[in-house]
Amino acid sequence: MNVPRILPADPRAGYLAARADIDAAVARVLQGGTYILGPELEAFEREFAEWLGAGGAVGVANGTDAIELALAAAGIGAGDKVVTVANTVTATVAAIQAAGARPVFADVEPGTLLLDVPALEAMLATLRDPKIKAIVPVHLYGQAVDMPRLTELARARNLVVIEDAAQAHGAAVGGRRAGTWGALACFSFYPTKNLGAFGDAGAVTGGDAALLEKVRLLRQYGWRRRYVSDQPGRNSRLDEMQAAILRARLPRLDAENARRAEIAGRYLAGLRGAALTLPSVAEGRTPCWHQFVVRSPRRDEIRAQLEAKGILCGVLYPIPVHRQPAYHDAALSLPQTEQACAEVLSLPLHPWLTDEQVERVIREIRSAAGAA
Ligand SMILES: *Cc1c(COP(=O)(O)O)cnc(C)c1O
Repeated sequence: MNVPRILPADPRAGYLAARADIDAAVARVLQGGTYILGPELEAFEREFAEWLGAGGAVGVANGTDAIELALAAAGIGAGDKVVTVANTVTATVAAIQAAGARPVFADVEPGTLLLDVPALEAMLATLRDPKIKAIVPVHLYGQAVDMPRLTELARARNLVVIEDAAQAHGAAVGGRRAGTWGALACFSFYPTKNLGAFGDAGAVTGGDAALLEKVRLLRQYGWRRRYVSDQPGRNSRLDEMQAAILRARLPRLDAENARRAEIAGRYLAGLRGAALTLPSVAEGRTPCWHQFVVRSPRRDEIRAQLEAKGILCGVLYPIPVHRQPAYHDAALSLPQTEQACAEVLSLPLHPWLTDEQVERVIREIRSAAGAA
């Protein structure tokens, strides 16, 4: 008998769980006759900003564009440098470069694997580089960066903070959500994110209406009025179909995040005593459990053993950005980042896993990893 495979993420299960609402949303758009920048996007921008607790949101084509356009709207461009981490998807860095700026990499905390704010503070004091104008903290795995401390640091040094919240729909620090701390924040609605479209989509959120208006101009040719470009701009629109799908899914997000947290709790309890480093959550922070990441020097072996049992795990990310062929910097050493990339393993985690599947994952990973 073939036991069905357990997937690291399962957007199709998300569709099936909300099928009637999603089908109705798609039909409404098809029959409505407006397919780009219409009532669905306007409503989604309002509803997402309200859900998040942000002043406003601007829908764009994807998360990478969200970062690029947010940086550009904040006045970051040619000649500027932007601090970020290297244990992120290269999209974060591609967006910094697309805005015309250059990335500067900071190392991460060994526990949370997030931007190490005290280390960044020391780095900035040593570098004294006036070209550094902005910081893009990445709320990796759905864990929020220490935003109170980062905000203080940025204010003292007059740096712009643009959050990469692409994995952080619902994460919070001290009850205040990721995506509401920076001058602007960037979300992706790639199908496997906590809130996913069935195609590409993204958004920029923020509390400053003038900055959001700049993003709005940039996303469509610099048009304030149709066919009149007040400034140069691009095409980075979020279409009506994806907006309607996101509206259908948004009301379920809190319950889905709660189910993720329940599964994470089972993993934390069930994997105690196994020869693995379990994820650590800093005091006062609420993860949205986009990923449940364990660490082991035997990562590749454990992953292969689980795969042989039909349990598919992810690795976010196997190669740090400064070791990627496109961005290679042999002179740069980020010890925590490099070690993390060699050891991290994302266990299957999505709201549609059954308790039985979660128990099976715990059993198999305990057997693959052994006892501590
Ligand atoms: C998904 C993701 C992005 C890019 O989003 P796209 O919608 O794929 O362009 C950027 N940063 C992080 C941390 C992500 O997880």
